[in-house]
Amino acid sequence: EHVANQIAAGEVIERPSSVVKELVENSLDAGSSRIAVTVEEGGLQLIRVTDNGSGIETDDCEVAFYRHATSKIGSGKDLFQIRTLGFRGEALPSIAAVAKVNCVTASSADGLGRKLVIEGGTVRSFQETAASRGTDMAVKELFYNTPARLKYMKTIQTELGHISDYLYRSAMAHPHVAFTLKHNGNVLLQTLGNGDLRQVVAAVYGTTVAKAMLPVKAEDADYTLGGYISRPDMTRSNRQGITIVMNGRTIRNYAVSNAILNAYHTLLPINRFPVVALHIGMDPELVDVNVHPAKLEVRFSKEQELVRLVEEQLRAVLRGEVL
Ligand code: ADP
Ligand code: MG
Repeated sequence: EHVANQIAAGEVIERPSSVVKELVENSLDAGSSRIAVTVEEGGLQLIRVTDNGSGIETDDCEVAFYRHATSKIGSGKDLFQIRTLGFRGEALPSIAAVAKVNCVTASSADGLGRKLVIEGGTVRSFQETAASRGTDMAVKELFYNTPARLKYMKTIQTELGHISDYLYRSAMAHPHVAFTLKHNGNVLLQTLGNGDLRQVVAAVYGTTVAKAMLPVKAEDADYTLGGYISRPDMTRSNRQGITIVMNGRTIRNYAVSNAILNAYHTLLPINRFPVVALHIGMDPELVDVNVHPAKLEVRFSKEQELVRLVEEQLRAVLRGEVL
């Protein structure tokens, strides 16, 4: 079991940002409206994710750290209609296998919770504690017992870059959730969680960019589009400013990114790139999320239709036809 967890950890937990991603997805799945992320030394010293979500029931605390202990799949059929972000039950055991984890969680508002300490996959203690409803996961000394993995870690700035990139995109995917990110005591992101995507764009890219964003709104029989795209004069020299959100998940999809760039590159030189926060809504049955374990690159069953809709809409907005 220990070995299995360490092997799984090698696949799921590649670097500090993988831990942040898994913990934040759990907080989102738990219906949190506030998620605070605190990181030290690029996440190698500490990653702490605190939420105000459902919490974990006392009887489920230890179980949550066993392999495949997901509470999120009722039947095999559900695999094809995944609405929550996590569904494999691998993240917590993988993280606990390669770090020192303190989990404080409470599933009711009566002030009583549980504290579970796990180090390298071994439960050190499990006891009652005072806690408000929600979950507080502190992951310390990541890869302390897997020195070979630790050696592959890049500089603190690089690891932090992966973490902030993930959180910026998460915040843009979930404007109704108030996110904070702190690194070594400095606040790097703070969103209000009031549902205003433009405010999130301002928190990530600054107010000048946010003011120059144009709204997108469109739908056809299968897809809805929303979000913001930058005016053609507010561009960047790299394509990192493109965020695609599908049913609340940030995704990568080559065809959709290409459609976005095509729309811009009829107006812009090909070495300039937009800032885009595009929300796509669709029937979950038309998506194949399980293409890659990291669940980022997804496929759609009516991809050409989506590509056409995205390209046409963005062109129209950029030409000022839909303002
Ligand atoms: P998965 O998310 O794939 O179900 P995880 O290993 O990430 O698997 O989590 C295991 C279980 O622990 C989840 O199914 C959920 O029931 C519980 N859990 C983990 N984190 C939280 C959280 N922040 N709030 C509430 N429940 C949580
Ligand atoms: Mg999960």
